[in-house]
Amino acid sequence: MALQPEIEKALNDQITAEFASSYAYLGMAAFLEAESLPGMAQWMRTQSQEEWAHGMKIYQFVLDRDGRVALGQLEPAATEFESPLAVFEAAAAHERKITGLINDLYAQATEARDFASLPLLDWFVAEQVEEEAAVNQIVDDLRRAGGEGHTVLMLDREMAARTTVPGEPGA
Ligand code: MG
Repeated sequence: MALQPEIEKALNDQITAEFASSYAYLGMAAFLEAESLPGMAQWMRTQSQEEWAHGMKIYQFVLDRDGRVALGQLEPAATEFESPLAVFEAAAAHERKITGLINDLYAQATEARDFASLPLLDWFVAEQVEEEAAVNQIVDDLRRAGGEGHTVLMLDREMAARTTVPGEPGA
């Protein structure tokens, strides 16, 4: 079944939101690297790549459904923050916002009986649970560290291990 115009628009808006997330995380990665936290910067670069892959997943879906892709405007991304904690708090708030958008999209697709979109959106619903849990854990760890140098450094070294491939399960 062809995409209904309002569903096509909503999916295109979500493509833009995912690319905007990627752009925002790239800005955060730049700050973390400039602050000599290479592990956190690596984690955030990987996060940025994952968001890009999320955008591409919907992009491909729109095309597979014989829709037309429309790419919206990206806002400037911040590269200055008060602290590493402030970065991850901003990332957590951002993920909560994205979860809300996915939920709205899910409700809209259901309402419009666009059932072909639901498996894709199910994937995103599950992904958002993981995204929120991962970033909330880091916020908790950083709060517990209370800005104490060696604990932050330890966390930074731990986070360097993140190298998931975009598009792979869990990415
Ligand atoms: Mg995403």
